[in-house]
Amino acid sequence: MTTTISLLPAERDSVSQAIDLVRAAGWEEKAEALRKALADGKINVDLDMPLTHWAETNSYKGTVNFNPRVPLSKGSDPPKPLDRDSKDFIDLAATLLHEADHLLGHGEIEAYGEQLSFYEELNEHFEKYFPDTTGRNKESIEGWKKEVEKGYKRIRDRYIENPDWEKKGK
Ligand SMILES: [Zn+2]
Repeated sequence: MTTTISLLPAERDSVSQAIDLVRAAGWEEKAEALRKALADGKINVDLDMPLTHWAETNSYKGTVNFNPRVPLSKGSDPPKPLDRDSKDFIDLAATLLHEADHLLGHGEIEAYGEQLSFYEELNEHFEKYFPDTTGRNKESIEGWKKEVEKGYKRIRDRYIENPDWEKKGK
């Protein structure tokens, strides 16, 4: 079952800016695929997505759905786009890059690999992307990257153990 709802204007702004970051970090083709999906109204929120899933992509339909618990804006009355140097924003950009890989028909191993490279790029050239950000956020990004890296290794190990695992679903 899928009940999708459209993004709010603030959420749309967050997604749009996150796509800009994906592009600036060097993933031009994937940013373009995401930009098209957003323009076509194919990036939405799925109210019925299981809690274990953060986002889901259907490469045939060209859709990317987020779990409602993924922060896409901040505050209320009215909600505002995410701060560009917040953990939520950077995670959103990394998640979009991961989903863009699926949009282009690639599997989890590649998608997690891209996510890793993205965090590495941000860590390596932090000042370029976040010229006004203090050292604390930089440390946080290092921390998330390690988490993502652990997740990637876990998935890769499972895949090596059982090559059919990936086909059983996301
Ligand atoms: Zn995935």
